[in-house]
Amino acid sequence: MRFIILTLFPEAFESYFNISLLKRAVAKKIIKIELVNLRDFGEGPHKVVDLPPYGGGAGMVLRVDIMAKALRALKSKFKIQNSKIILLTPQGQKFNQKIANKLADYKTLVLICGRYEGFDERIRSMVDMEICIGDFVLTGGEIPALAVLDTVARLVPGVVGKSESLVQESFSDGLLEYPQYTRPENFKGKKVPKVLLSGNHAKIAAWRAKEALKRTKKRRPDLLK
Ligand code: SAM
Repeated sequence: MRFIILTLFPEAFESYFNISLLKRAVAKKIIKIELVNLRDFGEGPHKVVDLPPYGGGAGMVLRVDIMAKALRALKSKFKIQNSKIILLTPQGQKFNQKIANKLADYKTLVLICGRYEGFDERIRSMVDMEICIGDFVLTGGEIPALAVLDTVARLVPGVVGKSESLVQESFSDGLLEYPQYTRPENFKGKKVPKVLLSGNHAKIAAWRAKEALKRTKKRRPDLLK
């Protein structure tokens, strides 16, 4: 699977892509990540990509003509097929695991990061979907793009070592995950539940299912509706 990130700050991503599972997945060519600098499509000697909004108001708005040029160039350079072009914006659809599962079926995701006051409204008609990562406003779309990429990439076969980790985790079955423990067995009087030490896999599975439901009811009853 390929991810193309259109951003004014490609350097913001590099350290994250150079660690752990994503680094390994890139090295093994399970996923490919292309960072494209929106500034390269800017106008004039200063490579201007944004302008003040019509009607006045604070901040600068990313220009529709610059975005059109960038997307045209991306489409011809990367021969994009079976793709989704995604705008990261607080005004988009709220991101969750279900959306991530659907996105994992595409061959290419193009992630467009905004900055400043956001996008010229006409840019919205050039994308396939808009994603918001939560009801808060960040300074730019880089963290949202990373959140989407990271969530989707771990669903690509081979990125996460044991595929069962994906089945038994929060949101995979509409529930939060059950409590997990490791050594020591007794930490300052806080003991690991006996059933987990029993070696009885059926009992352990039943306990985990019960605990996952209990935890979800308590912390996220909205997931059960
Ligand atoms: N003025 C915009 C508004 O009120 O909707 C917010 C612009 S924000 C300061 C700059 C950029 O950060 C956005 O264009 C978007 O790409 C990104 N961004 C900020 N918060 C986000 C969120 N919760 N989800 C997705 N993208 C976000």
